[in-house]
Amino acid sequence: MSCLFCKIIDGTIPSAPVYQDDQCYAFADINPQAPVHVLVVPREHIVSIAESEAEHRGLLGHLLWAAANIARAKNLPKGYRLVINTGEDGGQTVDHLHVHLLGGRPMHWPPG
Ligand code: AMP
Ligand code: ZN
Repeated sequence: MSCLFCKIIDGTIPSAPVYQDDQCYAFADINPQAPVHVLVVPREHIVSIAESEAEHRGLLGHLLWAAANIARAKNLPKGYRLVINTGEDGGQTVDHLHVHLLGGRPMHWPPG
């Protein structure tokens, strides 16, 4: 698998690690949109949440738990936002499922 995030996970492309375990890898976004901007990525290549299957239910929960755990470690008492951009209209630019953790500033609603 030669996708960008698979290469980051296997170390072919360097990244700034934030957290990792047997199911996911989290690293700093290269173009941060907030003081804290971390991407939480499953080690398994899944194109997007739209392609997720019943067998991925545990993994999807694990990604959200990992994001919350990272947020706790980053000390964001005023809150944060988790985002899963999905497909063209969702603004997804890398076709490997990822959760954005954004924090350290107030977020706006509705999103752009
Ligand atoms: P999305 O638009 O939701 O698919 O998010 C893709 C994210 O990947 C964007 O926020 C990019 O800034 C980020 N990104 C792209 N290339 C890299 C990289 N080499 N290292 C870290 N983050 C990256
Ligand atoms: Zn991939």
